[in-house]
Amino acid sequence: MKSSNKTDLRGKNVIEIQKLIPNEKPFRAKQIFRWVHSNGIKSFDEMKNLPKSLLENLSEIAEIQVPKIAKHEIDNETGTQKLALEFADGNQVECVLIPNPNGMTLCISSQIGCALGCKFCKTAFMKIRRNLTAGEIYSQFLVARENSMAPITNIVFMGMGEPMMNFENVIRSADLLNHPDCGNISRRKITISTAGVVQKIRDFTELGKKYKLAISLNATTDELRRKLMPINQKNPIKSLLRAAENHAKKSGERVTFEYVMLEGVNMSDDDARRLNTMLRPIDCKLNLIPYNESNLKFKRPTNTMINEFYEKFENAPFPVLVRKSMGRKIKAACGQLAKSVPNQK
Ligand code: SF4
Repeated sequence: MKSSNKTDLRGKNVIEIQKLIPNEKPFRAKQIFRWVHSNGIKSFDEMKNLPKSLLENLSEIAEIQVPKIAKHEIDNETGTQKLALEFADGNQVECVLIPNPNGMTLCISSQIGCALGCKFCKTAFMKIRRNLTAGEIYSQFLVARENSMAPITNIVFMGMGEPMMNFENVIRSADLLNHPDCGNISRRKITISTAGVVQKIRDFTELGKKYKLAISLNATTDELRRKLMPINQKNPIKSLLRAAENHAKKSGERVTFEYVMLEGVNMSDDDARRLNTMLRPIDCKLNLIPYNESNLKFKRPTNTMINEFYEKFENAPFPVLVRKSMGRKIKAACGQLAKSVPNQK
């Protein structure tokens, strides 16, 4: 499948659509924007209330890129669904629908592969291929919505890729997901996650968009974090915590810290003590995530180990949760996403 030179209407805002049809009244651009992002149309002839001539002219320069579902897996035990989507250039990404008490949480990808090389993550093995466009990110929502067994209530940018390394498109797609004429998902239900790109966290704070921020921490010393997450070399824990604290203060939003529990690696008494101390000044919550084994060298802790580690936060001034792993059977759980790249050279 080859991509064309036409402009993909998915991911474009009203002003950009207006520029494609300069001789039309502004309300036409709004109509197209809604058809594309709210109705999720796949072809121009579905836009019933637009003049044929306008659609014909528009179709000369623009198109609606619709990814193909390459694979659709369902874990019947938990109701988790994993969708592998193929884009026009043949690259694929995965997104995951996870049931929550009010509907579905959609975990979406922001890049084809990832450059950050976290040692416990399968996506890291793909290396980075390219950033997804805002339209490609938003398309994951549209396809998932069509296949979801319940309304999508929450979005987490925690799939393949580091969202902060594709900052502009991630923010643009989050804006579309939040827009009442598009995804209509509350901003408080949209979480952007990062492995800790400090400068981008600062940029995000300055932007003042008020989407939720999650930081994947996973170690309590720079020595260990450097080994697990190479990004720590240039973004040490101290500066990361400072950026998180500043974000919480400026945005008035609680920051979530994610901590993947790796047996025998980051679950000692000292780790718990240091975590308690380092997170204390920050308005935050801590999610403890049992590692999902993916044929890498790490081991998932036993339930006893998880409980023992969790109990060490009994007196923590911040909420601590052990995240239930959903979709392990279909390799849809955290850190397990990795799609083949058919046209990899
Ligand atoms: S955990 Fe996230 S940031 Fe790290 S390699 Fe995997 S996708 Fe990239």
